[in-house]
Amino acid sequence: MKALQYRIVGAAPEVVTVPDPDPGPGQILLKVTAAGVCHSDIAVMSRPAEALSFPLPLTLGHEGVGTVAALGAGVTGFAEGDQVAVYGPWGCGACAKCAEGKENYCLRAGALGIRPPGLGAPGAMAEYLLVDDARHLVPLDGLDPVAAVPLTDAGLTPYHAVKRALPRLVPGSTAVVIGAGGLGHVAVQLLRALSPARVVALDISEDKLRLAREVGAHETVRSDERAAAVVRELTGGLGAEAVFDFVGAPPTVAVAGAVAAVEGEISVVGLGGGALPVGFGRLPHEVSVSSPYWGSRGELAEVLALARSGALSVHTETFTLDEAPLAYERLHAGRVDGRAVVLP
Ligand code: NAD
Ligand code: ZN
Ligand code: ZN
Repeated sequence: MKALQYRIVGAAPEVVTVPDPDPGPGQILLKVTAAGVCHSDIAVMSRPAEALSFPLPLTLGHEGVGTVAALGAGVTGFAEGDQVAVYGPWGCGACAKCAEGKENYCLRAGALGIRPPGLGAPGAMAEYLLVDDARHLVPLDGLDPVAAVPLTDAGLTPYHAVKRALPRLVPGSTAVVIGAGGLGHVAVQLLRALSPARVVALDISEDKLRLAREVGAHETVRSDERAAAVVRELTGGLGAEAVFDFVGAPPTVAVAGAVAAVEGEISVVGLGGGALPVGFGRLPHEVSVSSPYWGSRGELAEVLALARSGALSVHTETFTLDEAPLAYERLHAGRVDGRAVVLP
């Protein structure tokens, strides 16, 4: 089958031919219908060899949906032809976190060498994908594959962050979204669907700010050295009860710290390498800072249910598998509005 692989440290990914996978006991083989292109793949492909935690070549794609093509021995609950979304942050299934459905925080995945598809295990940018266990599948139940595939990460990750912040997002509150890209433009919609907060989106690109307004941001602000002052002014000087940073770079985490309200919450989701100093007088009183990773199995089912209700409209741009290297180039250049989706 054809697959998009990251093969050489620092080089662009390539379309290659690899053997068709066969499902072993407990595994499920999917014919991939859509795979999402995430900025984290670019972060991985920018790391030096010594910082990679898995061997190359790697078939990319940690957002995947597909049709069940074959079931390994002993698999129950799914049948050939079922349309499913893949829960990506695979865990051991047995530790205390996995028991809660929080396989993203599995206590043993590292020790057992369990890696998500596309981030260590062979990913979804291929004609077929092997899924290690039926518990990592959620039925699409009528959702369109292209619209649904970004929800497995670009939807699930902000959903988890937004859900945690909901108690603070009361009427009259403000939520700030920094970076209105793949994750950020879904975050804006999640905030509008789940909270009465006023949503302020920041980006460096006018196109992304336009998309943020289209999907429900009340205010948009250019992310420059004046951004923090503008957001403060928009909140009457009080700041935002929740800040979601989908860039995570030194200048954006500084803005996040500068716009947070007393008792506010900052979620640094982006992998941009920024850090916030916590300590008396560094941030407004009692601000919480966290760096959440992906979401739980239950939350994936919730985000798909929210999409079925019509509350989410993910903007997508589609590419064939042969065009997938171009999708990464465009994402790297900031030229994808919403999410790029590969159709293998
Ligand atoms: P993306 O490229 O689609 O979106 C990033 C957006 O940020 C773009 O719209 C870009 O214009 C904007 N941006 C860049 N610099 C900015 C700045 N200084 N101020 C404001 N906006 C700026 O990327 P994505 O796929 O949505 O991923 C976003 C980030 O989240 C990446 O760092 C990715 O690695 C990370 N990520 C983290 C998790 C997690 O679990 N923590 C999961 C998925 C992605
Ligand atoms: Zn991702
Ligand atoms: Zn576990």
